[in-house]
Amino acid sequence: MNQNKVALKNFTEEEMKEFMKTIGEKPFRGTQIFSWIYKGAKTFEDMNNIPKNLRTKLEEVSYIGTIKQELKLESKKDGTKKYLFELNDGNIIETVMMDYESRVTVCVSNQVGCRMGCRFCASTIDGLVRNLEPWEILDQIMHIQEDNGKRVSNIVLMGSGEPLDNFENTKKFLQLVNEKNGLNIGYRHITLSTCGIEPKMRELADLGLPINLALSLHSPYDEARKEIMPIANAYSVNEIINACKYYIEKTNRRVTFEYSLIKGVNDSEKEALALVKLLKGILCHVNIIPINKVEEREYEKPDKAFVYKFRDILEKNNIPATVRISMGSDISGACGQLRRKHK
Ligand code: SAH
Repeated sequence: MNQNKVALKNFTEEEMKEFMKTIGEKPFRGTQIFSWIYKGAKTFEDMNNIPKNLRTKLEEVSYIGTIKQELKLESKKDGTKKYLFELNDGNIIETVMMDYESRVTVCVSNQVGCRMGCRFCASTIDGLVRNLEPWEILDQIMHIQEDNGKRVSNIVLMGSGEPLDNFENTKKFLQLVNEKNGLNIGYRHITLSTCGIEPKMRELADLGLPINLALSLHSPYDEARKEIMPIANAYSVNEIINACKYYIEKTNRRVTFEYSLIKGVNDSEKEALALVKLLKGILCHVNIIPINKVEEREYEKPDKAFVYKFRDILEKNNIPATVRISMGSDISGACGQLRRKHK
């Protein structure tokens, strides 16, 4: 793809109108083109109410921005679908769609690879390759919506990558999916998950968007967190919990704490009780995820009894907690594993 061309899917409707002005066209052309894009136009040829000379001009200075489906796997167990997409530069990313009764949730990737280094996660094994552009995050949703003929109602930024490590593009993506004449997905239906980059969590809070924040906590103890998540060397549990409290203050949204349970590492009663103490009084919910075994990693899932015991301790102490049943386990676990296998 020509480096000097702009991706039209990076524009909001207003920006599309502005862009038309910069190439000597009337703003209403921007509205038309924006509308074509969200009707699923893949080429300028498709835009049949746009004059030929403008289509030629667009071809010279821009491209629409589409990612290519490389593979799709459908779970026989639970209706989860996993997609691999090829980007224009040949990189491969992974996206998941979960189709529950009343909602369709898409879990998008944010980066090719990741540099956070969490020791249980497959996405980070080869480090960060590059950030995704806003339109490359957006098009994962647009493609899945079209492929399934169903409106995507919810988005979770829980795929490969760390959204707060690609913050500018993530902010732009949030603006794009919320566009009235675009996908029109409400902020309340979007969840951003972070490993805990404290200053960026505060910056996100300051945006005042009512999106849901999920924090990958995984242990109430600094020492244990440092063992499994290098980011914990930069920000303490105390600091990130305070950032969560700040987030709640600013947005009034309940924060989710993700807790991936690893056998013998963070699954003891002592840890559960320390977690209760840490989260007391915070408007929150704990999502317990028995670890998905990654071939390259030594960590194991705890026995079922341990998982439910851990949950019960939280619940008994008035910390709402659910065990997240791993979806699509028959089509390659979670978090970047499919992409690795494909490579
Ligand atoms: N970078 C963001 C979002 C991506 S990961 C973050 O760290 O939150 C989404 C969630 O899945 C995180 O809570 C992450 O810690 C967890 N996760 C990653 N690999 C996992 C695995 N193998 N088993 C269970 N949870 C995992």
